[in-house]
Amino acid sequence: MLNAFTVDLEDWYHGIGIPESDWHLYERRIRIGVDKILNILSKHKVKATFFVLGKVMEEHPDIIRELIREGHEIGCHTYSHTELFNLNRENFDHEISKCMELLKNFGIMYSGFRAPYFSIDKRSWWALEVLQKHGFLYDASIYPGDSKRTGIPGYRKDIHLIEEFKLWEVPITTFKILNFDFALGGAFFRILPYHYFAGKLKQVNKNRPGIFYVHPWELDEKHPYLSSLSARRRIPHYFNLGKTEKRLQQIVQDFEFCKLEDLIKNKQS
Ligand SMILES: [Zn+2]
Repeated sequence: MLNAFTVDLEDWYHGIGIPESDWHLYERRIRIGVDKILNILSKHKVKATFFVLGKVMEEHPDIIRELIREGHEIGCHTYSHTELFNLNRENFDHEISKCMELLKNFGIMYSGFRAPYFSIDKRSWWALEVLQKHGFLYDASIYPGDSKRTGIPGYRKDIHLIEEFKLWEVPITTFKILNFDFALGGAFFRILPYHYFAGKLKQVNKNRPGIFYVHPWELDEKHPYLSSLSARRRIPHYFNLGKTEKRLQQIVQDFEFCKLEDLIKNKQS
């Protein structure tokens, strides 16, 4: 069974509630994690999907060129990393246009989109129409469960076409533990024991591909520690960072992975 390997390409300070206007204050360290991820992927001949933050595309064109050269897919992760339900349709449309302009410099176009924090839910359903308008092939933003921040409990978990928008939807893979909906990646990959996590993916693979995600800063355990963050943000952000790289090497050895657009192509054919 082919699973999707996805990376949300952002630096360590982009997804912890720091406003874009303050990002210039923090040390850029994205290269550290990117190099480690690319090494692991190339060693195992895995092509992945990188959902790139517009700001990262602007500041690190060298990374984008390298990803393209290596045959990875470039998807969109907005420009400012704001939850979509905290944007309106007009702001969102503007962010997408800005990212598309930036991507044009590399001579390619987007197929896929992932919202920051998987924030397409009932409050931001309109975002799918904006994606359709801009010609996206698929969205990978729905959290079929309750993440406490976002999510649509009871939403279907397979890759499917949303007829209303003629857009493929690739929900992030989630699984229930007690009353909580865990996702296949991010902090959950570091918090749960590896064998337990891998066992969950094996179960998923009986029916469908798993959609896995990781961030480059999760392989950079030495990035600055911000004690000022709330415990809710701080604890999952810094937990077990020293284990990510080894676990990543293990998971690409134990499972088959490809980029997301290849999973969609398989669906279409
Ligand atoms: Zn993100």
